[in-house]
Amino acid sequence: ESLALMPTLDLSPRRTQDRASVLEIAADVGFDNEADTDPSLAANRDWGRRVLERSADSRLGAGSIASALVTDAETLDQRIALAAHRGAEWGSTPGAERARLLHDAGDVLAAFRGRLVEVMASEAGKTIAEADVEVSEAVDFAHYYAERAAELDAIDEAVFVPSRVTVVTPPWNFPVAIPAGSVLAALAAGSAVIIKPAPQAKRSGAVMVEALWEAGVPRDLVTLVDIEEGDLGRRLVTHPDVDRVILTGGWETAELFRSWRPDLDLHAETSGKNAIIVTPSADLDLAAADVVRSAFGHAGQKCSAASLVILVGSVGRSERFRRQLVDSVRTLRVGYPQDATSIMGPLIEPPRGKLLRGLTELGDGEEWLVEPQRLDETGRLWSPGVRTGVRPGSEFHRTEYFGPILGVMTARDLDEAIALQNGTEYGLTAGIHSLDPAEVAQWIDGVEAGNLYVNRGITGAIVQRQPFGGWKRSTVGTGTKAGGPNYVLTLGEWSPVEREP
Ligand code: GLU
Repeated sequence: ESLALMPTLDLSPRRTQDRASVLEIAADVGFDNEADTDPSLAANRDWGRRVLERSADSRLGAGSIASALVTDAETLDQRIALAAHRGAEWGSTPGAERARLLHDAGDVLAAFRGRLVEVMASEAGKTIAEADVEVSEAVDFAHYYAERAAELDAIDEAVFVPSRVTVVTPPWNFPVAIPAGSVLAALAAGSAVIIKPAPQAKRSGAVMVEALWEAGVPRDLVTLVDIEEGDLGRRLVTHPDVDRVILTGGWETAELFRSWRPDLDLHAETSGKNAIIVTPSADLDLAAADVVRSAFGHAGQKCSAASLVILVGSVGRSERFRRQLVDSVRTLRVGYPQDATSIMGPLIEPPRGKLLRGLTELGDGEEWLVEPQRLDETGRLWSPGVRTGVRPGSEFHRTEYFGPILGVMTARDLDEAIALQNGTEYGLTAGIHSLDPAEVAQWIDGVEAGNLYVNRGITGAIVQRQPFGGWKRSTVGTGTKAGGPNYVLTLGEWSPVEREP
């Protein structure tokens, strides 16, 4: 058996294993993922330049956000009541009809690619490439969940009972793909949606919702609200007409929602502290490139990002690997997205607290391989950092930083490396670079994480191929994976079919 036999759906070099769902995926090949924009074509580079020029003073989404502002409980209750009414109607339409609207939504999201990239670059500091893949993912969610909606009609062992209102609270780091995925899944499941975008990325969420409206989604079926997180947030989450909340954010936020409403039907995708193991059998050049991409894509501001690389045996002493890593980190071009040559963009806001510590302070036994530098007056632009000598159980080993810093750990053998990889409270993504199938098998057996990647970076899960979701503190609630076959199925109740005796 060789690695080439691992199930993959295309001929790309990404060899990926998502344990639970890989076979289901292989059986379900009727779905084509949306293509990203190919920057090797001159016309696409011109398109990108025009989008980035506009993004320098983009006000996209501002109008919708202004009208979404809700400052009092009465108005919030009214919007929820309208949504509940519309949700009851929507939930009684056949799945096949819902599927049609979702496919239309996918087409309009694809047609909005330029606007969505523009607003993400302007508001969230995403580089054009990072924003572009996010649009593809949003489009994929629409078409993929459309098919899942159509399937609901065909299940005859039990009847799917939709919810009336689902609340969606997305994060700022994927301000289009994640809200789109959550909203579209809830729509596929026959529910109305109230979406509250993250404060740092409201306009991106608004433009995504505008695309859905333009596709024909009624405005009270997907309602945008802009509220403060305090009392109104609590009112929204605990409102009796709200059946469920889809949250992507910190583990603490999920716990807060739970404390407000212990019986809440919560689907939460939370934090991560993710590592890539590199064994002596790995292709070290490929491993270094994948580690750098996974650690510093979107300046490390992804739950899926690599925060640690664990070098097994001789790799820890490999001068060649060290040089590759250091050189590629040092030469990453850092800048604002409006400069089309930027590879790594700015932080969403100047670092504070643990991220500031992670960028400026070393723990016992640690030293900088590449010391991060603050690059401009705004405090948002930092060069990436790499520290070595991270000790088991140390602060760096356990903490999620959500920024451009990578720690290097070493292990005597693969067993020890797996123990280090598992040695955090989280279990979202994990990777290994190894060309030895026995090592990969041993790793798959021992690693505790939701998304496993072999000889590939650990970010950028693709709808259907790598359904996305974690273990341990990386998930709270139902725990089915986004972009996978079971997600929509768990966004409603199932009631048994009454049969004649
Ligand atoms: N789905 C994204 C990925 O695979 C990560 C989402 C997140 O950071 O919340 O990279």
